[in-house]
Amino acid sequence: MKTSYWKLQKNSDNQEIMQEAAALIRAGEVVSFPTETVYGLGADGLNPEAVAKIFAAKGRPNDNPLILHIAKKEDIAQLTTGLNANAKKLMEHFWPGPLTLIVNKSAIVPDAVSAGLETVAVRFPSNKFAQDFIRACGCPIAAPSANISGRPSPTNAQDVLEDMQGKVAGMLDGGNCGIGLESTVVDTTSAVPTILRPGGITYEMLTEVMGAVEIDPALQGDKNFKPKAPGMK
Ligand code: AMP
Ligand code: MG
Repeated sequence: MKTSYWKLQKNSDNQEIMQEAAALIRAGEVVSFPTETVYGLGADGLNPEAVAKIFAAKGRPNDNPLILHIAKKEDIAQLTTGLNANAKKLMEHFWPGPLTLIVNKSAIVPDAVSAGLETVAVRFPSNKFAQDFIRACGCPIAAPSANISGRPSPTNAQDVLEDMQGKVAGMLDGGNCGIGLESTVVDTTSAVPTILRPGGITYEMLTEVMGAVEIDPALQGDKNFKPKAPGMK
């Protein structure tokens, strides 16, 4: 497969490029894009066949669910059966940014995205290129990191190219990612919000806003517990 490559310009809305990349997404293809954490491998998150191509390109096990990326807070409404007070407060304080929220999923979220779970992971990234791309696509973008499974998560386009050239339809080059840390994954469906994966938003930042916050016991080396985030196994 030929991989289209586009260099994004900082002081531009990159409209033409975004439209071309979005056309590939609407055609069910996979396009890599920058976020403030690492580069993502994106596809239409409501199209199971497009989502399957992400798993194929990465060699990712099917039982590891994907994060859905949105470009405005309101867009989470269609993806969930409802948000509790904790979820709303976390969105207010930390979105857009490197915080992924686990919420109960609505019927439009394909099983391919949630790996058959009743919940789905949702994030609103702060990177402007990511926001412009998702907005141009007009659908939630399912995206894991743009590396072959087991390899380091890429923070620049050169590293994405090494892993993904010829395997995906397109690649947006937005330079180096700011943080390089992955997003913090927080389960909002439990009584007390629970960190399932540490990342850019720290425990201290979360407790300052939320008061009590728990950490998945499996992350603290307790072998009696299985991680609640399948990707942390
Ligand atoms: P990645 O796509 O590599 O950035 O990783 C996303 C992380 O979120 C992985 O550790 C997944 O297992 C985790 N994750 C995604 N969806 C869910 C979910 N519904 N419940 C728990 N963990 C999830
Ligand atoms: Mg990853």
